[in-house]
Amino acid sequence: MTQEIGGFAALELHPNIVAAVVATGYEEPSAIQQQSIPIILAGHDMIGQAQTGTGKTAAFALPILHRIDPSKREPQALILAPTRELALQVATAFETYAKQMPGVTVVAVYGGAPMGPQLKAIRNGAQIVVATPGRLCDHLRRDEKVLTTVNHLVLDEADEMLKLGFMDDLEVIFKAMPETRQTVLFSATLPQSIRAIAERHLRDPKHVKIQSKTQTVTAIEQAHLLVHADQKTSAVLSLLEVEDFDALIMFVRTKQATLDLASALEAKGYKAAALNGDIAQNQRERVIESLKDGRLDIVVATDVAARGLDVPRITHVFNVDMPYDPESYVHRIGRTGRAGREGRALLLVTPRERRMLQVIERVTGQKVAEVRLPDAQAVLDARIKKLTNSLSPLVGDAESTHGDLLDRLTADIGCSPRALAAALLRKATNGQALTLAAIEKERPLVPNNAPRGDRPERSGDRPDRGDRERRAPIPLAEGRARCRTALGARDGIAAKNLLGAILNEGGLAREAIGRIQVRDSFSLVELPEDGLERLLTKLKDTRVAGKQLKLRRYRED
Ligand code: AMP
Repeated sequence: MTQEIGGFAALELHPNIVAAVVATGYEEPSAIQQQSIPIILAGHDMIGQAQTGTGKTAAFALPILHRIDPSKREPQALILAPTRELALQVATAFETYAKQMPGVTVVAVYGGAPMGPQLKAIRNGAQIVVATPGRLCDHLRRDEKVLTTVNHLVLDEADEMLKLGFMDDLEVIFKAMPETRQTVLFSATLPQSIRAIAERHLRDPKHVKIQSKTQTVTAIEQAHLLVHADQKTSAVLSLLEVEDFDALIMFVRTKQATLDLASALEAKGYKAAALNGDIAQNQRERVIESLKDGRLDIVVATDVAARGLDVPRITHVFNVDMPYDPESYVHRIGRTGRAGREGRALLLVTPRERRMLQVIERVTGQKVAEVRLPDAQAVLDARIKKLTNSLSPLVGDAESTHGDLLDRLTADIGCSPRALAAALLRKATNGQALTLAAIEKERPLVPNNAPRGDRPERSGDRPDRGDRERRAPIPLAEGRARCRTALGARDGIAAKNLLGAILNEGGLAREAIGRIQVRDSFSLVELPEDGLERLLTKLKDTRVAGKQLKLRRYRED
């Protein structure tokens, strides 16, 4: 549908950028993109209040790509991100959007990797530098001129950067850049510390916030499931086993995802189809008609393609990809619970999107309960229930019409009626796993303890009660090792400094780090046992608050 492509084209971005975005499968700009792109294109400073999942990366990456000069081989834009993981993600996004802009290069600068090649890539003329603050400061110590040509600065997840103790590093970086630069700050929250930065370092910034009106959602039972992005398809297949649905709509973000998921569902025998902006109007109508009359049970759609879709048969909505904002969530789940019926809405949440879930809960004023993936027993029960439901109407008078045949066959074959019934069942169920053992074997799927990340049950979230607890060590979670550094509170260390340094220099995901206890003269950190020696070697030269970290394995006995 050309009007959706026009959605991006209307933003007056360079045609090669629009082409790359369309090739990526985006159909229309998200709300934060609609609002931010014109502001950044016009050269204003900006404060954007948005969290992961709103499309914020493209909201700054697209206009910045438009504003750089590919013929100049020098750093022109710097994006600061709190963690190595996010820096890599942002760098990859830039590369995707710059695919059709020859001559544009992107370098990611983060701890835990050798400094030489990073500096070389910057000196070789990468126009976009995506960095974590700590490592960038290390580079500045070697070459204080590295940032003098940068005239666009983006602080991504500014609140997280402050939480990880990067305030001082940020100040060093600001000073190393031209004052005339454009500065864009994205943050999920705007505490006083962030406002203070904005006041000091941004010039007359425009504010962008996706306004969220409270929305009411009735008659829809909502739940969420934590899952890693690459496990979504298997999670969806597992959920479908136990959800008792009539018709179902699944929402994803891109055209490609509609096609991929619909074909994965078809391969499992579901009557499913994709609905996206590329699908011609008459075909779209056919899909909707089929969903209405039961020739289809599942439609996998983008927001654009599902507009105006009203099918009373829909009992379930699966938000396979997170919506950009709470309004869109409410809109999506409103596809069910039509005509006074009850509906059920399930939301898949990746660890980084948990904050978006909180926003949705706040705006809708409702708790979206957590569910776990069904275990093998639940899948078995559901399969047997379906089988029972499909067979019981067939029994009727079958014995009077086919009973004699059964007698004859059992006699001819020389088997018991039970043996023959079992054979017929095997045929009818087409090899489907119908014992616990068989189900367990077929689904190494998603572990039932999907990512817990930094949730409360992690020992790391208990408040630090000081040295009194030393004689009663808290049991380590499985797979974790306790490590010790001689740096403590008296060295000016806080848990967030340790967390920031280990995340970035060690290249760990946040959830990999457990409890951090800062005592006066030392600190303890729980780290993954797997790969610990390698990690400690990586952290060998790491400094925190100007002092060597010297982290060592710690044994309490
Ligand atoms: P972010 O909030 O920047 O972390 O983006 C979250 C996800 O949304 C990423 O996987 C992006 O690729 C995707 N995304 C961003 N903008 C769009 C868009 N306009 N249409 C579809 N997907 C998008």
